[in-house]
Amino acid sequence: MLTLEKGVRLLQESGAKITSQRVAIMRSLEGRVDHPSAEQIFLELKPDYPTLSIATVYSTTLLLAQAFVIRILTIDDKKIYFDPNTTPHGHFMCSRCKRIMNVPTDHLPFDFERIDDACAVPNIGCVKNVEIFLYGLCTDCAASAGNEG
Ligand SMILES: [Zn+2]
Ligand SMILES: [Zn+2]
Repeated sequence: MLTLEKGVRLLQESGAKITSQRVAIMRSLEGRVDHPSAEQIFLELKPDYPTLSIATVYSTTLLLAQAFVIRILTIDDKKIYFDPNTTPHGHFMCSRCKRIMNVPTDHLPFDFERIDDACAVPNIGCVKNVEIFLYGLCTDCAASAGNEG
C-alpha cells in the first residue's frame, strides 16, 4: 500500500531525486480507491505543475510498482492503469463503459490464502502479487442493453 513516506524512501533507495513533481504524483495516488491512468494523473497535476511530463509520471509509478507499493493494471490493451491498493483483489472491466471495478477475493476462482506462505509455488519462487482480470458487461450496462432490446 502506498504512503508518501514509503514512496519517498523507495525513490531515495533507488537513487532517484525527490522532486516536488514526484511527491505530487505520489500524493495523488496515496489512498486513492479508483484506478487512474497515467494520462489522468498527468492531467490532474498539470495545472499546478506546468513543466510536468508524462514520462515523469511513468518513471515514478514504475519505481513504485517495482517495489510492490502500487500495482500496474494491464487489464486494457490500450492503456495502463494504476492501483495504489495492493491488498489482494481482482478487477472486472466492462467491455462497454470501460469501467474498472474491484472484485473481492471471495468472488475469484483463486485461493489467495495459499500465497500467504513465504514460498507458495514449490521449486518456482515466492509470489508477491497476483493479478486476475475479468471481462464482461457490468450490471448497469447489462440493464440498459436489456432496455434497448
Ligand atoms: Zn458498463
Ligand atoms: Zn483495484
